[in-house]
Amino acid sequence: MDLSSNISNIYGFGPKRAGVLATEANIRSVEDLLYYFPFRYIDRSRFYSIREVTSDSSFIQIHGKIKNIKKEGVGKNTRLSCILYDETGEIELVWFKGLQYVMTQLSTVKEYIAFGKPTFFNGRFNIAHPELEEYTPKNVRQNLGWQAVYNTTTKMKKSYMTSVNIRKLIYTVLTSLDSPIKETLPQYITEPLGLMSLNQAIRNIHFPENLELLQKAQARLKFEELFYIQLSLLKQSKFNRNKFGGLLFNHIGDYFNGFYKNQLPFELTNAQKRVLKEIRADVGSGKQMNRLLQGDVGSGKTLVALLSMLMAADNGFQACFMAPTEILATQHYNNIKKMLGELGVNVALLTGSTKQSERKIIHEGLLDGSINFLIGTHALLEDIVRFSNLGLVIIDEQHRFGVAQRAKLWNKNANPPHVLVMTATPIPRTLAMTLYGDLDVSVIDELPPGRKPIKTYHYFEDKRDELLRFIKTQIDAGHQAYVVYPLIEESEKSDMIAAEQGYEYISTHLPQFKVSLVHGRLKPSEKDVEMRKFATNETQIMVATTVIEVGVDVPNASVMVIESANRFGLSQLHQLRGRVGRGAEQSFCILLTPYKISNETKKRIETMVATNDGFEIAEADLRLRGPGDIEGTAQSGLPFDLKIANLAKDGEILMLARDTAEKILNNDPTLSNKLNEILLIQLHKKSKNIIDWSKIS
Ligand code: ADP
Ligand code: MG
Repeated sequence: MDLSSNISNIYGFGPKRAGVLATEANIRSVEDLLYYFPFRYIDRSRFYSIREVTSDSSFIQIHGKIKNIKKEGVGKNTRLSCILYDETGEIELVWFKGLQYVMTQLSTVKEYIAFGKPTFFNGRFNIAHPELEEYTPKNVRQNLGWQAVYNTTTKMKKSYMTSVNIRKLIYTVLTSLDSPIKETLPQYITEPLGLMSLNQAIRNIHFPENLELLQKAQARLKFEELFYIQLSLLKQSKFNRNKFGGLLFNHIGDYFNGFYKNQLPFELTNAQKRVLKEIRADVGSGKQMNRLLQGDVGSGKTLVALLSMLMAADNGFQACFMAPTEILATQHYNNIKKMLGELGVNVALLTGSTKQSERKIIHEGLLDGSINFLIGTHALLEDIVRFSNLGLVIIDEQHRFGVAQRAKLWNKNANPPHVLVMTATPIPRTLAMTLYGDLDVSVIDELPPGRKPIKTYHYFEDKRDELLRFIKTQIDAGHQAYVVYPLIEESEKSDMIAAEQGYEYISTHLPQFKVSLVHGRLKPSEKDVEMRKFATNETQIMVATTVIEVGVDVPNASVMVIESANRFGLSQLHQLRGRVGRGAEQSFCILLTPYKISNETKKRIETMVATNDGFEIAEADLRLRGPGDIEGTAQSGLPFDLKIANLAKDGEILMLARDTAEKILNNDPTLSNKLNEILLIQLHKKSKNIIDWSKIS
């Protein structure tokens, strides 16, 4: 048997169960099975004697014989028990389920290994539903040590593919392989880094000889996993950069200078200036720009985007700016138009609700080059939207867009346009490196002057009276307030009801103020009307679901109340909070939750109260939820599965993997050196599942 053998060829393993493993766990070949890594380990490194059992005992294993097999009760209340004994004492084993099967396993003449967690009940110790196996040399060998635990699904369990049986299956495979598992990394990498061989690593990940070897096995397999992802991303992006020349924006002209001198509403922050220089260097380099701009909510990314667009215009290129929602696109359009004033730049807005007749005019204007800037939503991805010479693409709140959508914009010019993606959801460094490979990163790490950090408080829901009084004082002082309700995905309707009830409540209790209501069921034009009323202080309170989440800018608003804050993720809470604190006045964020909240929710709320720093929050989010759940990556999906590495914990290994990959590619960009043949083969095999993000991000 070798790695490519089908699992149905494993001795004693039928096609039916093989089918279950294939559909439930994607395991088809022996190799798949060996790469089905355990998610935790149980310490079964020794046998306990019964005398050692205490009420503090965790899961332990005992070697003994059984007696007094008893079945009591009727129907659902039937209980099966027996006494397990060794030279030092006795302990009861009990079962309430699956009695029929257990009965067939029990014999007073055999010796057993019983494994489980003892509890003290009715004056004596027992173990409920222990794992019971015959004490044989083979079972002892398989069980002693740190024991692997595997993920299983209900369907797998039904076909007896329990964690224990998967372990046995892997044991069978490992003992019947024709030859040691072939190495997948060249020796010149493994040796200096002290990495364990693949053969040893695979064996120890499933059957660790001891803790130290287990850790070495994990390190080796994590390194390999991250290394090949980095190698693939870096190799591809090096290739792209050499293949496509970048559009050259080599002069700064009247548009940029005119705006800078006459229209710029305020002095740029130093961070904005620095980022702008980085962008200018990129677009003037003759290479294609692929830049991620991270900046906390309110840090002024839009202005940087606009100035970059003016650089494009100065060099005779068009620019487009895509935002995730209609509200946001419209707001950008209005802002940008206002800021540009009489500069003579032709700006168009294209969204889902642009009328057919208007669309036609826009399409034509884009093709004949009379439109300089196009701002819009997903609508500008449509094939019919074509440009005469698109030079710059800006994507706002990029985490809201999928990979394919970005690729579409990339393809709207014969020569790929420069790409600037902006995000207010700071992506932790490890995650950015894995997701974007060679994307350059700029950070606006400074807020415009005069901003005061937002004060955040956690209230339980019974403090509403106090809350109302607080909102009243703030509005009396001339400010405005948001009250936000969570979006309930399964049911837009109940989402609307919550917001509507909130609207009723606020309107009744604060009758002296005007209240706007915005939720997902309103037409875009209706939303717009309400947003505009709030923006002009015609209404003082905005009750909304999360449709206002991104980008909305009303500097006069100073209070953000988040209802059922326990239902929001950390980065979402941070985004929402960022709607206030945009003016010079002190702003407040109040997180309402019920009394009973989970520990994890408590940590989220505490993080919010403790810090305003988006990066700290992103790191906390990564730790609390794991990378797959980070807002944005969950939506667009990590472009690959991580089987063993954990981006929240394995930052160091990731850096090492990236450095290693970078060095190799610097010496041998195409991996054509004989020593690197093994890399090329593995890369080819593994990268089938890795989408090339570096190209399209
Ligand atoms: P975000 O980075 O969240 O997209 P915006 O671009 O919407 O932030 O900017 C937030 C607010 O800050 C806007 O009202 C904008 O006009 C203002 N702003 C941007 N840059 C500056 C600056 N240099 N000085 C003062 N205010 C600024
Ligand atoms: Mg923004």
